[in-house]
Amino acid sequence: MSMRCAIKSLPIVIAAQLFSQTALADTADKIWLGGPILTMNDASMRAEAVAVKDGKILAVGRKDDVLKTKGDKTKVIDLGGRALIPGFVDAHGHAMMGGLQALAANMLAPPDGEITDIASLLQTLKDWTDANKDIVSKAKLVLGFGYDQSQLKELRAPTKEELDTVSTEFPVVVVHQSGHFGALNSKALEIAGYTSESKDPQGGVIQRKPGTTEPNGVLEETAWITVLPKLLGNIGPAGMRVLAEAGADMWASYGYTTAQEGRSNQGLDTVWKAVAGEGKLKIDVVSYPDVLLGRDHIKDNVSADYKNGFRVGGAKLTIDGSPQGFTAWRDRPYYAPVGNFPKGYLGYPAANGEQVISAIDWAYENKIQILTHVSGEAAGDLMITALRLAEYKHGAGDRRPVLIHGHFQREDQVDSMVRLGVFPSLFPMHTFYWGDWHRDHTVGPELAQNISPTAWYVKRGSMFSSHHDAPVAFPDSMRILDATVTRRSRSGDIIGPLQRVDVITALKALTLWPAYQHFEDKTKGSIEPGKLADFVVLSADPTAVEPDNLDQLTVAETIKKGSTIYVRGQKRTELLRPRDFVNTGLYEMLKQVFVSQRVRHLPANYRTPMAVASIAATYEDCFGSIMLVEMMGGQSSFDEMAAQ
Ligand SMILES: [Zn+2]
Ligand SMILES: [Zn+2]
Repeated sequence: MSMRCAIKSLPIVIAAQLFSQTALADTADKIWLGGPILTMNDASMRAEAVAVKDGKILAVGRKDDVLKTKGDKTKVIDLGGRALIPGFVDAHGHAMMGGLQALAANMLAPPDGEITDIASLLQTLKDWTDANKDIVSKAKLVLGFGYDQSQLKELRAPTKEELDTVSTEFPVVVVHQSGHFGALNSKALEIAGYTSESKDPQGGVIQRKPGTTEPNGVLEETAWITVLPKLLGNIGPAGMRVLAEAGADMWASYGYTTAQEGRSNQGLDTVWKAVAGEGKLKIDVVSYPDVLLGRDHIKDNVSADYKNGFRVGGAKLTIDGSPQGFTAWRDRPYYAPVGNFPKGYLGYPAANGEQVISAIDWAYENKIQILTHVSGEAAGDLMITALRLAEYKHGAGDRRPVLIHGHFQREDQVDSMVRLGVFPSLFPMHTFYWGDWHRDHTVGPELAQNISPTAWYVKRGSMFSSHHDAPVAFPDSMRILDATVTRRSRSGDIIGPLQRVDVITALKALTLWPAYQHFEDKTKGSIEPGKLADFVVLSADPTAVEPDNLDQLTVAETIKKGSTIYVRGQKRTELLRPRDFVNTGLYEMLKQVFVSQRVRHLPANYRTPMAVASIAATYEDCFGSIMLVEMMGGQSSFDEMAAQ
């Protein structure tokens, strides 16, 4: 071979090697095509196909280009006209408490459920129990939620004997839709400790069989609320892990590939770590323990990296309560509050100035991200003051402190939040569930226009995220999308037309922007090469349907790191997830349990209405998970808080 020939052929050999190397490395595991792909990447929002390899996005763009990554073993999936978008990132919720929602059989009447009489109620419970044998044996409980005797043919609740036909081995508990009553089987009554000899507690009734003192199984008010901890306390550590897993699964069923444990503690994190360690987390879970419950736990565990799908992301601080419950701390009186409120009532803080300033200072000093629950304007002012002080002391930096909720904000506060680098995680779904209530009672018709002021942030070039705060509401991504775009209330009123945003903006607030909020925008939130293959398949293109029909879209499939983790209609059970049912009953029930427990621990002369309201406020919003741990006999967080 002549020298000339060798030289000439060399580049060809190299080129061939390069081609074959890249060809091997570039062969996709899966390719999706045949439907609109919305990337959330402004540089190219729409794509025809996406290729995935090893759980990451390999290529996205025109079909012909992406198909170049197709090999012999590449699975090509036709979307059939359905839309593919990035997996949803939970901007704020309480995933473990959501597990309780997920683990209840649906006892609601049509159209939210299928219960019309006692027979259908019992059959649904039996079917649910059969389909969830593993869960029932671990949680040691059969739970149904949402019955209403006025909707049953018999116009009464089921009796203990009827519920015994579902199980005599495990307690069977069916909760009234209001949360104020429960119907129990014999085993549950036994755990509750109610017999023919039991007297009715103050403020409650143990219903009896006619002409006898024998309990019939139905408990009212305090007789019911006080036994619930005993029944849930039965769940135990294995049951807690079941709850965590069920919570994550429920989030996945709404298209979430990342969930938040939005007010955690050491006990809950231990449960999550155990579930993660068993390899049972289908989605990522990021936890923010309460900063007032122990800073060492946060400092020792905070991490940017997931381990088996779990990480501690930072700290959570709660400044005030709930707007719909009139415990948001305001800078002006409530408009027309319902209840016994003094004239000029402003609500009140759940944490004092010293606690807030100290917590935020600690977070800045230790480079720990801090999420702050703020509902009312006065709480917002305190947050802004604390952030200003911390920034003055520790200098500017990319810390992404998060405003959680910010239901009631003044426009000047929005300016301050943006200037201080705050990431706003807003709750526009409030316009649907409580918009009418805010218009008529909390802030009045004028200020109600600007609850969850998404457009004020957009106008200033700021990102925001849209959250659900489940279990306060269901983690219903399509309801969030609808509310963020339309702001239509239950009564059909538009709550703040000027705060509405377009569909793409609302989708970014469920994907790319909450990924940024969590410092995870390098790996999640948009469909770009190198990012995780976390996707949702929606029933139709959300940019092509009438905005008023956005809530009719469904999550058809959820994909985590390239693998399908949820397919609509292929669930092992029907979850309690009616679309238009706000879960106030479950919420009320659990709140009452917590408050009554706490009040019982107070010395008698401290059991004032104000003390009760103050305890309720502490746990009113973002309440769930800590309360759950308390009920499970975990650490008594309230006592620790009080001691600080
Ligand atoms: Zn909250
Ligand atoms: Zn919350």
